[in-house]
Amino acid sequence: MSNNITRKRFLKVTGSTLAAASFGFPSIIIPKRKEKLGVALVGLGRYAGGQLAPGLQETEHCELRGIVTGTPSKIPEWQGQYGIPDRNVYNYDNMHEIANNDDIDVVYIVTPPGIHARDAIVGAEAGKHVWCEKPMAMDEEECQAIIDAANANRVQLTIGYRMQHEPNTQTIIGFGKERTYGRIVSLSSGAGYSGSHPDPENWRRNPDLGGGALYDMGVYPINAIRHAAQLEPVAVRGRQWSEREEMYSDVDEFTDFELRFEKGLVATGETSFGKSTNYLDVECEDGWYRLRPMQPYRGVQGETSDGVELPPDPNHQQARQMDNDALAIKENKNPIVPGEDGLADIRIVKAIMESSRRDGEWIEL
Ligand code: NAD
Repeated sequence: MSNNITRKRFLKVTGSTLAAASFGFPSIIIPKRKEKLGVALVGLGRYAGGQLAPGLQETEHCELRGIVTGTPSKIPEWQGQYGIPDRNVYNYDNMHEIANNDDIDVVYIVTPPGIHARDAIVGAEAGKHVWCEKPMAMDEEECQAIIDAANANRVQLTIGYRMQHEPNTQTIIGFGKERTYGRIVSLSSGAGYSGSHPDPENWRRNPDLGGGALYDMGVYPINAIRHAAQLEPVAVRGRQWSEREEMYSDVDEFTDFELRFEKGLVATGETSFGKSTNYLDVECEDGWYRLRPMQPYRGVQGETSDGVELPPDPNHQQARQMDNDALAIKENKNPIVPGEDGLADIRIVKAIMESSRRDGEWIEL
């Protein structure tokens, strides 16, 4: 990849939504009669099929009731496997009609990042609560448009950062809040896999759809560092490159970055499609703690300098996440991961990209 990717954005979020009135945390519309909220999965790819639909078989506060897909051949299998009635099957052209369907309370956007804003806004404007996968969207403007649409339609919005629902991650975040091991002196985090995307049509190779390691995997270390530090960076710098140019000529195969905080604290991060990494290390004045691995679906574990073991949680991570998010809707409470958290990461992603284009210059936030 060259440091100068020209991105042709073909999606424009609706101006009307951007112009929507600004509300504080909305007084949301709470579903009446239902014990379990009905969820419609939007985009039936690997994550929806492999993790979310199975997770929704284990949830206590929500269940799978609908699907939105642009691929009609997937419909019979999903209907057969999950008992989804014809009236709850939509495509991207008629998805707005979900507004008239009381079976569905939540739309869960699991399409490629480049179309999250489009789908999330349709869902919010249909009056449905929106769960949106990471990375939230392509840029701050799109993220803000999703937030505005949710507020204007008085629905909840949450981003699918499953790690924030994971118990060991929550323990580490708690150490940061309490400064349990004293002042943090350094943080480092990485998430990446040694993989490949041979299909030229794969969205992970397409800059317009949110491809590249930084959007796909880099948001994990960014989000982990921000929450472990309990601070927002004031400047970032980064370097993006590709080694397998035949696959990743238009997106980054690797990104290294640094986040600078007030008082000289600097965190380092890395992500890639070409190297397996999975850690969060925090060094403090009075000790250290870490998560290794930091973000697998199962088996996140950690330890501390004074011998505290953080053993893997046996529960289904996505089921826990969706139950927490459903409960927040039912009880009209703030969700664990609001839209603003997704926006904060995308702001950093864009600044890292800018820094890489400028040969690693620090970019003030
Ligand atoms: P995928 O390619 O397997 O699935 C994407 C789906 O979107 C496909 O079914 C595809 O048909 C559909 N789609 C709809 N419109 C499309 C378009 N215009 N172009 C391409 N595809 C289109 O991808 P995935 O791995 O399931 O990822 C989907 C989303 O889930 C992404 O945002 C990704 O970052 C996120 N994800 C999150 C996690 C997690 O742990 N939270 C894990 C994997 C993926």
